[in-house]
Formats: sequence, structure tokens, C-alpha cells
Amino acid sequence: MRIHINDPLDKQATEKLKSVPGVEVTSEHLEKEELLKIMPEIEVLIVRSATKVTADIIEAGTKLKIIGRAGTGLDNIDVKAAEGKGIKVINTPGANSISVAELTIGLMIACSRHIARGTTDLKNGKWTKKELEGHELFGRTVGIIGFGNIGREVAKRLLAFNMNILAYDPFVKETDMNVKMVDLDTLYKESDYVTIHVPLTPETKYLINKETISKMKDGVIIINAARGGIIDEAALYEALVNGKVYAAGLDVFEVEPPTDELRQKLLALPNVVATPHIGASTFEAQERVGMLLVERLIKEIA
Ligand code: NAD
Repeated sequence: MRIHINDPLDKQATEKLKSVPGVEVTSEHLEKEELLKIMPEIEVLIVRSATKVTADIIEAGTKLKIIGRAGTGLDNIDVKAAEGKGIKVINTPGANSISVAELTIGLMIACSRHIARGTTDLKNGKWTKKELEGHELFGRTVGIIGFGNIGREVAKRLLAFNMNILAYDPFVKETDMNVKMVDLDTLYKESDYVTIHVPLTPETKYLINKETISKMKDGVIIINAARGGIIDEAALYEALVNGKVYAAGLDVFEVEPPTDELRQKLLALPNVVATPHIGASTFEAQERVGMLLVERLIKEIA
């Protein structure tokens, strides 16, 4: 059985997979054209978020039985096309939630306290102490959109900061945490911070747009460590420039790596803190994700 790993997978997990009798493992990032060429030879394809497993790639996989996604979101995989061909899609929900939650809180604090701008100014020889007055999280209200694995890990940590926590999730009606489930309009109206933890789906595409931003509090801070495409970046840019939005913390972008235009406009703003999709990029999360995926794969192929 040939297994091809197309995005980096934890070393220990790769070794475990290689130790399975009768399995041949190849590990190399191939761009689409090259990947298409080897698809007819492989039974299992493993990806993270970088490889787009489109219908034509699946179609070319005449022996393909399983697509393994080391991570949570399945928006880079045409799941319908896979299911149509009887190909199983396996992911690892929950295994990277703590890392994404910790980065989310890092972005909230960085936005509130101008950590990135302060660093850049200092390195450029500017002492901008007077310009960098910020906000505490203490006592303020955060609205969490999407109360799944990551949303809940974010809430747990923010309770320790003594924040008032609101959450919206159409599939979660109640919680035993000290979190108030509300409708979206209430969340927009009352939140000092809006943080997004939903999958990218047709329903969540451009969920944060000109109209929804206008419903938010003046001076709101918006965090997105979920997926690019959930925020309309042009609308966010406008709201950051006109001061409606105080700051934004972004780990994900509609096009990754971002276009030159985005870099020159949105990313150039001093009130934007941005990271290159590193929410799940910790040694701990990658080990957890890799080992869980390999355990699940072994169960399937044994
Ligand atoms: P999850 O499935 O546990 O939770 C997602 C929640 O969103 C669910 O509770 C679901 O009911 C809710 N939801 C679905 N549609 C919604 C809508 N229209 N409005 C509000 N809520 C809605 O997933 P998770 O592990 O918490 O991950 C959430 C997202 O975070 C993933 O889909 C992925 O896109 C993103 N993510 C990003 C990184 C990163 O590196 N930045 C890493 C992992 C996951």
C-alpha cells in the first residue's frame, strides 16, 4: 500500500506510519501537476491545509481509498467528490484546538496593547510610549462566533481574564460554562472583541462584511484565526482606516500567501497584527495531530 504525505507531518507520526508492515510511505510536497501524476499510484493521501484536494485530483486517484487531513478544517478538500467515489476522509478534530486558542488570545492581547507596533517602532529607534495606550481585557466583553472545540478553549482561557463572554453557534443552544449564548445581532452589538471560530462554508463566507461590521460597537477588535474568506478583507480595511474597528488580529487570509495588494493595504496598517497561518503550528499540536491521524489511519488499513 502506498501512502503519500503531501504536506509536512510530524516526524514521529511519519516514522510510526513507516513501521506498518506492507506500507510504503513517500513524503514530499508536490504541486498540483506533479501530484496529479502520482495519484493513480497511491491508496492514501495525507495533507494539512496547503494542498488543495480538488475533484480532479480525487478523480485521478483511481486506487485512492483514504484522504487524511492532519488538522480540522476540510475546506481544502472536495469532500463531496471524495464521498461520491467511496473515498474516506479522516481528520483530527480537537487535536490542535489548544494551540489555536492560545494564538487567538495572543492576538487579542497584541491588538489591545500594540505589541507588534511597539516592537517595530522600538527596532526603528522610535519611542512611541505616548501613542500606545491600549485596553485591558479585564471586565470587557468578547463575542465568540462558533462555539466548537476552539471556541470553547478560547472561552475557558478568557474566563481567567475576567471577561464577559458571549457566544453564537446555531448548533449549540446551551453550555455549562459561564458563557451566555446569544443571537448574532446581540453579539455584534455588545462585544468589545469579536473572535471567529467557525469553518469556512457557503454560510460563513464573508460573514464579517460591511453590513455586519456596521452592527458592531465603535472601537471593536476583530480576531480571525479560523479561515480567510470569512472576513471581507476590503470591508475590514475600510473599517480599520475610518476607526470603526480599533484593531484586527489575523492569522488567515482569503489568498495565502496574501497578495501584494493585501500586503500594501490591509497588512500595512499599524493596527493590524498578522501571522502567517500559524494557529496550529506548535510542536505540541503537530505531534498530537500527526499521531492521532496515524492511529486512525492504521485502524482503517489494518
Ligand atoms: P469545530 O467543528 O469543533 O467548531 C466549529 C463550530 O462552528 C461548531 O460548533 C459549529 O456548530 C459552528 N458553526 C458552524 N457554522 C456556523 C455558523 N454559520 N455560525 C456560527 N457557528 C457555526 O471546529 P474547531 O476545531 O473549533 O475549528 C474551527 C475552525 O478553525 C476550523 O473550521 C478551521 O477553519 C479553523 N482552524 C484554524 C487553524 C489555524 O491554523 N488558524 C487551525 C485549526 C482550525
